[in-house]
Amino acid sequence: MLHFTIELGTLKFADEEIAALKKENRFLRPRVLESAQEPVSVIDGRKVVNLTSNNYLALANNPKVKKAAIEAIEKYGVGSAAVRTIIGTMTLHRELETKFSAFKHAEASILFQSGFTSNVAVCQSLMSSEQDLLISDELNHASIIDGARLAKAPRRIYRHKDIKHLTEILETPEARAARRKMVVTDGVFSMDGDIANLDEVVAVAHKYGAFVMVDDAHASGVIGKEGRGTVSHYGLDGQVEIQIGTLSKAFASVGGYAATTVSLRDYMGSVARPFLFSSSQPPSVAATSLAVLDILLTEPRHLKNLWDNTAFLKEELKKAGFDTGASVTPITPIMTAKAVEFSTRLFDEGVFALALGFPTVPKGRERLRTIVTAGHTVKDLEFAVEKFKKVGKELNII
Ligand SMILES: *Cc1c(COP(=O)(O)O)cnc(C)c1O
Repeated sequence: MLHFTIELGTLKFADEEIAALKKENRFLRPRVLESAQEPVSVIDGRKVVNLTSNNYLALANNPKVKKAAIEAIEKYGVGSAAVRTIIGTMTLHRELETKFSAFKHAEASILFQSGFTSNVAVCQSLMSSEQDLLISDELNHASIIDGARLAKAPRRIYRHKDIKHLTEILETPEARAARRKMVVTDGVFSMDGDIANLDEVVAVAHKYGAFVMVDDAHASGVIGKEGRGTVSHYGLDGQVEIQIGTLSKAFASVGGYAATTVSLRDYMGSVARPFLFSSSQPPSVAATSLAVLDILLTEPRHLKNLWDNTAFLKEELKKAGFDTGASVTPITPIMTAKAVEFSTRLFDEGVFALALGFPTVPKGRERLRTIVTAGHTVKDLEFAVEKFKKVGKELNII
């Protein structure tokens, strides 16, 4: 045991904070994944049906994808050891940017280290003055909230998917006088699994001279033609100025990007702080995303399996009497105040689905969240549903 020589009294606050978190049930102790991220995984020493990851297409342990990563390591090494603007822009980053522009039907794209840093980069660099205005859906992801906090622009929040409220904000004198205005929405909302009304958002934003950023972290590789995302889902090609994507969900590794116009790409490439001050992705990670993109475009069965499994699980959970909220995507919540107990009991029975409480979701909106993948078999899902019913009845949830 390492002994610190500092006066421990000065750090007493940490123990007090932890005690406060524990009292509010907010102290997190993540379970440990002891196998690859698979539809049936070993978690905390137990083999369980895993309904918790964002591994939508079940490609995180796919042989073709792994081979691409290994080959990239052999050829280019394990890291760039530089930020993009120094000498961290590698051939594979460029190739990925070109392919993502085509995939997203955008003029250009710019890669970042994660979805989180992509949102920070866009919000901070484009909303850089007190005279700008950032307008955000109330249920947008934490990384948009933090990106907005780093932006100099004031921010206004509209009620979830409430176009009337968004219009009211755009009609305020403050918005009319703004130098630039950006409306930001998640494409698929990560807690409820509902899809943004992006067609209406774009129409009203453009009417008032605002541009639009959509965060497709849970939509890329999931919705739209060949998994191209929310813009494709609504047929809005060429109308959404910035599409954010992550490479850490359906794309199975880690990273993020903004698919946008040439001028916004070039501008962010000179000023976006995560691009300038944090090193680029390892080449194997870029190679992973290239391999996944290739699979998406040439092997439609993964996307089909994902949606077949989504329909099956949603239907069975509804039939059993669970409240699955507003979801229309592979994210299916089960609304219950007993989420923590439900999750713990299900784990004992061999199923892992995460309980979400405050502050991840609002108080009174606690839930168990399931995310099905393309790789689950009907047998896996039948097993899970049987356990959901058993424990659900035990806890009087159904
Ligand atoms: C997961 C998520 C992110 C963060 O993506 P990472 O690549 O994991 O950093 C950003 N936005 C939304 C909407 C997300 O769900």
